[in-house]
Amino acid sequence: MGCVFCKIVRGELPAHKIYEDSETLAFLDIYPMTDGHTLVIPKLHAERLADLPPELAGKLFQTVQKVTARLTQALGAPAFNVGFNDGRAAGQAVPHLHFHIIPRFPGDGGGSLHSIIHKPNTRPLEEIHRLIAGSW
Ligand code: AMP
Ligand code: ZN
Repeated sequence: MGCVFCKIVRGELPAHKIYEDSETLAFLDIYPMTDGHTLVIPKLHAERLADLPPELAGKLFQTVQKVTARLTQALGAPAFNVGFNDGRAAGQAVPHLHFHIIPRFPGDGGGSLHSIIHKPNTRPLEEIHRLIAGSW
């Protein structure tokens, strides 16, 4: 398989690994947005969140939690933006699901998740709610 992150998992490409267990891996982003910018991935190849076996979701998020704690200890990071680009239209470039953990520091000049897009509502909340809510 040509997937870059699968190659890192298999040890075929180098990475600055931070944490690894049987199902997840965390390593430094090669083009960091801030010091300590880390990616957390499932070892199993899943392109999108929808492709991830649900039983791995908790495991993946546990690793995110572990790594943020380590980044606070090691770098003194007092805050983080944590998230992922799920799909090409959302900016996903590497087609293997990955959380970005971006350490944030007071006065670093960055924005929040709210700065990703500013599209005014095109439909009333009530209508959107009717479409989405329902029994699970
Ligand atoms: P995204 O746009 O969410 O798909 O982000 C992909 C991220 O992967 C970018 O931040 C890249 O800098 C990072 N990246 C790509 N290749 C590598 C690599 N070989 N090792 C570490 N990070 C990588
Ligand atoms: Zn992969």
